[in-house]
Amino acid sequence: GIGRRTAQRLAFHILRAEDEDAAGLADAIREVREKVGLCEVCFNLSEGPRCEICEDQRRDRTMICVVEQPADVIPIERTHEYRGLYHVLQGRLSPLENIGPEKLTLDGLLRRVRQGEVREVILATNPTLEGDGTALYISSLLAETGVSLTRLARGLPSGSVLEFANTQMLA
Ligand code: ZN
Repeated sequence: GIGRRTAQRLAFHILRAEDEDAAGLADAIREVREKVGLCEVCFNLSEGPRCEICEDQRRDRTMICVVEQPADVIPIERTHEYRGLYHVLQGRLSPLENIGPEKLTLDGLLRRVRQGEVREVILATNPTLEGDGTALYISSLLAETGVSLTRLARGLPSGSVLEFANTQMLA
């Protein structure tokens, strides 16, 4: 995601750095790979079996906001407008890339909704063709549960992605 010049600057920075600093960076990279996994409930990134959001007893357990990837949780959290829980799909349906429902965390979502505490599922997949298709699929999957299904307001410009959306717009 960065250009050639930035990559070159980073490479030279590491070569110029003190041994200790370079080794510290290497350790940090190793540590993040070892420690950070997926939350067993919502599939967000987590340092333990459950993420901070799922563990937080002050969160509203009747709402689940469904997003495509962990990076999408961050901009929504930054708005401070949403107090419910999340469910990270770990992707979106994409027939062209051979990504079918079995590759997403849909079983987990269905299980959570069926447990009965959830009143509303907010489909916050990206407003792209694939994001919309994924939302449609989830709507039909959850229809039989009777849970209230909502989508984000369509103020997001078509073709943009949640990760880069501005905070006011998301709120
Ligand atoms: Zn979680």
